[in-house]
Order: sequence, then structure tokens, then C-alpha cells
Amino acid sequence: MQILKTIQELRDFRAKCSGDVGFVATMGALHAGHAQLIKTSVSQNNHTIVSIFVNPTQFLPGEDLSRYPRTPEADIKICQLCQADAVFMPEVDEIYNQNEIKILAPKELSSTLEGVTRPGHFDGVCTILTKFFNIINPTNAYFGKKDAQQLIIIENMVKSLFMNVNIVPIDIVRSSDGLALSSRNSYLNDDELAQALKISRSLMKASNLIKAGELSSIEIKKAMSSILEPLRVDYIAIVDKNLNPVDKIELGNSIILVAVYVKNTRLIDNLWV
Ligand code: AMP
Repeated sequence: MQILKTIQELRDFRAKCSGDVGFVATMGALHAGHAQLIKTSVSQNNHTIVSIFVNPTQFLPGEDLSRYPRTPEADIKICQLCQADAVFMPEVDEIYNQNEIKILAPKELSSTLEGVTRPGHFDGVCTILTKFFNIINPTNAYFGKKDAQQLIIIENMVKSLFMNVNIVPIDIVRSSDGLALSSRNSYLNDDELAQALKISRSLMKASNLIKAGELSSIEIKKAMSSILEPLRVDYIAIVDKNLNPVDKIELGNSIILVAVYVKNTRLIDNLWV
């Protein structure tokens, strides 16, 4: 496996790839969720490139950019075990210059849900992915459903800008007790981890209610709220695939999303119904 630091090294590596190239974009602190994306890419492509880059433009002032977990050695081992062909780990200066163009996520998709608390976040995501897609020109790019709004915005960007890449969604990977794996889980102590389990339990409750025939968004949100207590809930939302709120669950076309604070850590999770 090659470790690439510069855009030139990445371009040279890409030029030697033949056949399909899979790309997995990450911010590092890799866990089994990331590994699932990488392994899927390896199984579906001739070459797989993983980026590990804590992208400053997707963090708002006051967010956790400086303390975001950075574990490069462990990350490299995980990529090796998953049989990735190359890891791209650039410095910030390699990626961003002084006068930068910004790719703006569409307002309709980016000003709701995460965008309310994190305005501008998805512009940073679209900008970095445009840069990476331009350098790598991947055949397939793998994204987790864990970041549902991000996935929908990326699909929209690729379609709007006629980008020649196939976006492949990957199911959420959870710990055995249900918690959605996240690099930010490392901020939590044991007590907070136990509290965080309420998030997946609330989604499980929603799933059971739906299976029993309850389709009313109000009723489902009510039941979820009572499970999430006393955590500070940022939002519980039930939306369609354009992120518009729906009053009634439509099987195959609805997503239930939750954002919750466990102490100072903001965690998100969701269920694609
Ligand atoms: P991040 O490093 O948090 O930017 O995530 C990189 C990619 O991994 C994104 O496409 C995420 O949606 C995906 N991802 C993160 N956590 C999980 C998870 N628990 N299950 C599946 N995919 C995930």
C-alpha cells in the first residue's frame, strides 16, 4: 500500500491505475464503519484510494477542528488490513490556497437539519469532495448512510455538476449494543457512552412502531423523544429523500434523523425506513 502526501504523488498513482478506481473519503480516526466502506470498495474495484484529511472548511468556528481525533498510524494499519492500494494524507497547505473557490451546497438541502446548527458545513464538504474527485477521477465513491444529509447532498452535487462518478451508499455500521460507530464516540466516557445508547434505542423504537403499523410522524417522534430524555435533542426529523418533512412515513422513501448532545458531544444517527 502506498502512502501519498502530495497531489502530484496522487496524480502519478492514479495515472498508473487501470480499470475501476474506488475512492473512500475520510477524516481519519478510522473505525469499523470506515473499514466497511474501504472493504466494499476493494471488492468492487481494481484499485482503492482512501483519503485521510481533517477538512478545515467543513468545521465552523468553535467546533472541534483542533481536537478532532487524529490517529494516523492506526489508520494506515486499518487501510492495509482492508487491502486499500493507496492512502492520501495531505497537509492542509497542499489542498487549500489563499484565494479559494467554494462549491456551495444547494440551500434547499443544506439549510435544514445539520445546516441549522452547522451553517456552511456542507459547502466545505462539497468543496473538498470536488477537489478530491477532480484529482482522483474515481469510478465509484463510497459514502456512509450514517451521514444521510451529506450523502443526499453529494448525490445532488454529482448530478448537478455532471461529475463522472458513481456514488455508492453504505449501511450504517453499529457496535454490538447498537451505537452507530463514529470517530466522535472517542470523546465519550463510559457513562456518556451508556447515555448515547438512547439514540439507537429511539430509532429501534421507531422501527418497531412502524412494523406495528404506526406511520404518523408526530406519534413516532413523541415516542422517540421520551426514550431520548433527558438528553438535549437538537432535532428529530422525519423526511423524504429530498429532506422535506413528511407527516406520514412512506415505506422505502422516508428517513428518520436524530441529532443529540451527550454532554458536549453532538452525535447524529438515522434510520432509512
Ligand atoms: P468521516 O471520517 O466521519 O468523515 O466519515 C467518512 C465516511 O465514513 C463518510 O462517508 C461516513 O458517512 C462514513 N461513516 C462514518 N461512520 C460510519 C458508520 N458507522 N457506518 C457507515 N459509514 C460510516
